[in-house]
Amino acid sequence: MSDFSAALAELRAQSLLRRRRLVDSPCGPAVVVDGQPLLAFCSNDYLGLAAEPSLVAAAQEGATRWGVGSGASHLISGHYSVHQQLETQLAAWLGMEAALYFSTGYMANIGAITALTQAVDGAAGGSGAAVFSDALNHASLIDGIRLSAAQKHIYPHGDLAALRAQLAASTAARKLVVSDTVFSMDGDLLPLPELLALCEEFSAWLLVDDAHGLGVLGERGQGSLAHFGIDPAQHPRLVYVGTLGKAAGVAGAFVAARAEVICWLLQRARSYIYTTGAPPLLAHALLHSLTLIAGAEGRQRRAHLQALIDQLRTGLQLRRWRLLDSTTPIQPLIIGDNAEALHVAQRLQEAGLWVPAIRPPTVPAGSARLRITLSAAHTTEQLQQLIAALNALEAAA
Ligand SMILES: *Cc1c(COP(=O)(O)O)cnc(C)c1O
Repeated sequence: MSDFSAALAELRAQSLLRRRRLVDSPCGPAVVVDGQPLLAFCSNDYLGLAAEPSLVAAAQEGATRWGVGSGASHLISGHYSVHQQLETQLAAWLGMEAALYFSTGYMANIGAITALTQAVDGAAGGSGAAVFSDALNHASLIDGIRLSAAQKHIYPHGDLAALRAQLAASTAARKLVVSDTVFSMDGDLLPLPELLALCEEFSAWLLVDDAHGLGVLGERGQGSLAHFGIDPAQHPRLVYVGTLGKAAGVAGAFVAARAEVICWLLQRARSYIYTTGAPPLLAHALLHSLTLIAGAEGRQRRAHLQALIDQLRTGLQLRRWRLLDSTTPIQPLIIGDNAEALHVAQRLQEAGLWVPAIRPPTVPAGSARLRITLSAAHTTEQLQQLIAALNALEAAA
C-alpha cells in the first residue's frame, strides 16, 4: 500500500480529487476534449489571441530569427535584444520606468515579493519588513509571501478598514501591501484608487497583480491602472505585475516599476536569476501581441467581450444559484455544494459545454462554483447555448 492511497481515497470521497482533461485542439471556443468536441468557457484567453493566426505567424518568425531555446539564464548569456525590446515596450505602454520579463506569473510574484521585502534599512534577510495580503489573493502571491522572511498579515477580502488597522498597528520599517486587481475566482475588481491612497498614507509599497486586467481593461488594454486613470509616475512605491499567458495569448509575465526597483529585482529575485531565460521567440511573438492589444483590433475585441458579459448577465434567470457581482470576463456561478457543482459541470458536458467546477481549497468551503470565463473569440450564438443550458439545468435542479 502506498503512503498516499488513503489520502487520495479521502479526496475522491469528498469530490475533491483533481484530474486533467486531455485537450487535442488549439485553445479556443471549439475544442476537442478527451475525444469529445466541446464548446469551452474555461480559458483565460480573454481576447481570443492564443491561436490567432497572425500571432502564430509571429511565433514562427520568432523561431526562425532566434531559434528555440535561450541557452542560459538572463544574467549569464540568455538575455536577448528581443527580451530587452519587450521590456522597454511594456514599460512604455504602462507609463512605468522599467519592466522585467519573467517566464511565468507565478515566478514573477514569488521573485518580486521576496526581493521587495529584503534590504530593509540596510539589513539583509527581510527583517523589519511586513506584508499585508488580501485573503483571496492568488496562490502565487501567497507562496511569495510564504517564501519571504517578512511578518505576515492577512486582511479579509477587500476590507480596507481592516487593512488600515493593520497598517496603523505595524511598526515595520517597510510595509508591502499585496493584492490581485481582478480576483481570479470571483471576478471582482479591487477599488484601486482607494487602496493606493491608503498605502500612500502609511508610506507602504503596493504590489498589484493584474493577471486578469491586462489586455481586458483600459482604453488601450493597459489594464487596471488605466481603467482607474492612475498615473504610475505619481506613485513611486507602486509595483505592477502583469501576466502574458492570459489576454496576451502567449506566455510569461512582467514586473513594472521605477528603474531602481527593477534593478533591485535583478539583484535579488531568485525566480528570475536562477532559471533559463524564456525562449526569445516568445518575446518576439509578444511584441506582436502588444501591437494587437493596444490597437484597433484590441479595441474591437474588448467591445465584443463587453457585449458578451452583458448578454450572459441579462440572459441567466436563476433562483437557487447565484451569479457573483462581476463586470469582468470572469463570471462565477456559485452552486455551493462540491458534489452538486461537479454534477452540473457533468450535465453541461453531456450537452457539449465545458465549464470547470472550482472547489475547495481553490475557493472557500461551501462556495463551489462554475467558473465561466468569456473570450472575445466566443460568438453571441455560442454564448446563447450556454445560457439556455444553464437556465434549463437550474429550473430542473
Ligand atoms: C494566472 C495567474 C498568475 C500566474 O501566472 P502564470 O503566468 O500563469 O504563472 C498569477 N496571478 C494571478 C492572479 C493569476 O490569475
